[in-house]
Amino acid sequence: MSDHKIIPIIANQETLTSDGMGCHSGAEQMLDAARKANKSEVLNQYAKDYPKGPHDQPQSMCPAFGSLRVGLRMRRTATILSGSACCVYGLTFTSHFYGARRSVGYVPFNSESLVTGKLFEDIRDAVHQEANPDKYDAIVIINLCVPTASGVPLQLLPKEINGVRIIGIDVPGFGVPTHAEAKDVLAGAMLKFARAEAQAGPVTAPRTGLSSKPTITLLGEMFPVDPIGIGMMLEPMGLAAGPVVPTREWRELYQALDCAAVAAIHPFYTASIREFEAAGRKVVGSAPIGYEGTASWLEQIGKSCNVSADMIANAQNKFLPAIKSALAAKPIKGRITMSGYEGSELLVARLLIESGADVRYVGTACPKTPWSADDLTWLESRGVHVQYRSSLEQDLAAMKEFQPDLVIGTTPVVQKAKQSAIPGLYFTNLISARPLMGVMGAGSLAQVINAAIGNKERFDTMEAFFTDVGHDHAAGVWDEIPQDRPDFKADTRRRMEKLAKKRKAEEMG
Ligand code: SF4
Repeated sequence: MSDHKIIPIIANQETLTSDGMGCHSGAEQMLDAARKANKSEVLNQYAKDYPKGPHDQPQSMCPAFGSLRVGLRMRRTATILSGSACCVYGLTFTSHFYGARRSVGYVPFNSESLVTGKLFEDIRDAVHQEANPDKYDAIVIINLCVPTASGVPLQLLPKEINGVRIIGIDVPGFGVPTHAEAKDVLAGAMLKFARAEAQAGPVTAPRTGLSSKPTITLLGEMFPVDPIGIGMMLEPMGLAAGPVVPTREWRELYQALDCAAVAAIHPFYTASIREFEAAGRKVVGSAPIGYEGTASWLEQIGKSCNVSADMIANAQNKFLPAIKSALAAKPIKGRITMSGYEGSELLVARLLIESGADVRYVGTACPKTPWSADDLTWLESRGVHVQYRSSLEQDLAAMKEFQPDLVIGTTPVVQKAKQSAIPGLYFTNLISARPLMGVMGAGSLAQVINAAIGNKERFDTMEAFFTDVGHDHAAGVWDEIPQDRPDFKADTRRRMEKLAKKRKAEEMG
């Protein structure tokens, strides 16, 4: 969108005041403001779709990144943010860090445009200006925390301008707990729109033409070869792999809805599943992962599509021996704790266990849903502690308790592991970026995991080498080691508490 008109940011004191609400201000306060501003319906739906607890604050990146990423990865789709400048800066930075090759649209505000309703007018102008059917199939406009709390009514935008669909969604950090679930917010909104279009009349055919076989829609972002491998495993059952949701272009949404069944590979797509179920599609949980996971998944998919027992057995016999050999050829030895926010944590743990690893703990930022129930039962029957909606503190406590040979986790968990001379691997960059399904997935993790576990000696050497450089307030090399002053910190904390109490009393008074 490099030629888009971006309304200039107005950096004045009012803007700063209105920007003062955010991740670090009270979620309850934001939630309350949003409810008073007619956002109750959408927030109640989010509370139902994405149940919270034990923690309810984002402990990772801003959740809206999930929706933004889904929009930016779609062809002929413009994505526009409405939110505080600091949030938009962080989100665009992260998008480009992860290789988005599109511009992010932005409609800024100040406290005046926010409270007078002018922001909504600005958004409407921006959407009208962008709605060029030669360039776009859809425009996605995302309300971040402050516009959601202020009730900016995206639902009042026209549904279509010049044939370009307008999708307005609220994705506040105080309503959508993780960036994984924010992907579902946009994917679900798009499926809803596409379903209504398909019900109303003929829609565009898939780019590659209609499949001659019944298809299985795959729900959840995967390593690119995984859908190909899944397609090969479906073939002996007379089925084919359909599109992956979130899709890469609008017309794939119709194809995704027009399936024989949906494979909820990632289990947190609650709003999307609602749309598939409304379209009369069956949904199958778990994934073709490892030997047992693939055997059971093929059976469930086959049954959901009325495939004969012989054909299901045929598919199993064709692939299961190869999976068994691949797992045996690349064993993993060692104790592992793992955690992540991608939604595939339970699947990865199954694969590691079938490879021989001693997995003790799996933490996932995602909630418990019916679509990971089989994986949960499988893991618990092997003595693994599974923690849904895990907090950083729980992930760190597991590391302390189980003293693993390897920690797989999010950035702060891996950082802590390395500080403690325990080898660590980032889940998102190093585990999610590999094939996991079927034959290609079996054994694909062994090399990276075994190499990391083999680094223990280097960590011990490093720890011994750096022992004398201090830690926390005294980290580094000093002529004179800094003195910790807990009394100063306690004093500051007391003052902050006093100030907070005073502000609260003023608000109530
Ligand atoms: S939009 Fe994201 S970064 Fe901004 S306040 Fe909300 S959660 Fe924080």
